[in-house]
Amino acid sequence: MKPGATEEQVQHVVHLVRDFGLKEHLIRGTDRTVVACIGDKRAVDKGAIETAPMVERIVPILSTYKMASTEVKKTRTTVAIGPERFRIGGRKVGVIAGPCAVESRDQLLRTADAVKAAGAIGLRGGAYKPRTSPYSFQGLGEEGLKILAEARKKTGLAIVTDVIGLEQVPLVTEYADVLQIGARNMQHYPLLEAVGNVNKPVLLKRGLSAHLDEFLLAAEYVINAGNNDVILCERGIRTFEQYVRNTLPLAAVPELNDKTHLPVVVDPSHATGHAHLVPAMCRAAVAAGADGLLLECHLDPEHALSDGAQSIAPSALAELMVILNRIALAVGREM
Ligand code: PEP
Ligand code: MN
Repeated sequence: MKPGATEEQVQHVVHLVRDFGLKEHLIRGTDRTVVACIGDKRAVDKGAIETAPMVERIVPILSTYKMASTEVKKTRTTVAIGPERFRIGGRKVGVIAGPCAVESRDQLLRTADAVKAAGAIGLRGGAYKPRTSPYSFQGLGEEGLKILAEARKKTGLAIVTDVIGLEQVPLVTEYADVLQIGARNMQHYPLLEAVGNVNKPVLLKRGLSAHLDEFLLAAEYVINAGNNDVILCERGIRTFEQYVRNTLPLAAVPELNDKTHLPVVVDPSHATGHAHLVPAMCRAAVAAGADGLLLECHLDPEHALSDGAQSIAPSALAELMVILNRIALAVGREM
C-alpha cells in the first residue's frame, strides 16, 4: 500500500485478496503496510487489486518462504522478550545463558544470579530435554518450569526453555518467555504450527542437517500459523569433522541477515561441543552480525547432568562479556 493508506483502504484490499481465495498476512511498517498474499497466483486478477485505492504496486515473491523473506518485509524484525521486553534484533546484542537443563532449584537460582551479574538478558535451561539417548537425563518437567519462573521473578531475566512435544505446548507457554524448538524438532511441522498459535516468541534452532532454505521454511510454518516473533538460532550442523561436536557455519549469519528480517542468534555451545572453543566463536559470531548468543553456562561443568563439556563457568562468561562489548562496538552494536 502507498504510505498514508487508511485502515479502511487496507481492509478493502484484504477483502479482495480473500475473494480470490488467498490468505492475507499484514505487515505493518512505520510508513507503509504490506498485504502479503499466500496462495496460487493464477487465481488472482492482478488488475482488480492494482486499481484499488492506495495500492502502490503488486510484487511477486520469488522465494519459497514468503513472510520470513526480506522480499516481503524490508525492515528488521525485533522480538521483545521477558519481563523487561529486551529487544532481540535491535542495536543491543543479547546474551541468553544458563545450564543445558534445570537440575535443581538451588543450581538454577544461583546460575540465574551469576549470569545476570555477567550481563545476560535471558536465562536458558531445559525442563524437558530432547536427548539423543532415552537413558540420558530427560529433565525435571513441570518442576523445572516452576523453578525457571521463580528465577525470572527474582532476576527479571527472560526464560528460554525447550518444548519438545505437542502436548507440552500449553504448559510451557504458561511458564516460559521464549519457547525453544530444538534442532531435532526443526521439521516437526505440527509442533511448529502449535507454537505458531501461541502468544510467546519462538527460538527456532537449525536442524542438524537442514539447508538454510529448509530452516527458513520451518520459520515460515510458525509465522504462517500466526506468530511473527521468531528468533532463528544457528547451532551448528553435522559434517564429517570430528574435533567438534558440530560445525559452526558462521557465514549463515550474514546470509540469513540478507535473506530474512528475522533476528539471528548463535549457539556456540552446541556448535562446538567444547567449552574451550566457545569464547572465540562468541567473538566471531558478534563480529559476523549475530543479534544474540545462546550459551550453556554451568556452576560446576564437570558435574553437569547434560552438556557439561560445552558449558562455560559464570566467571568465564563475565570475562567474555567485556571483550564481546568491544567487538560489538566495533561493528556498530553493543552488548
Ligand atoms: C539445547 O539447547 O540444550 C539443545 C538440546 O539444543 P539443540 O536442540 O540445538 O541440540
Ligand atoms: Mn544442551
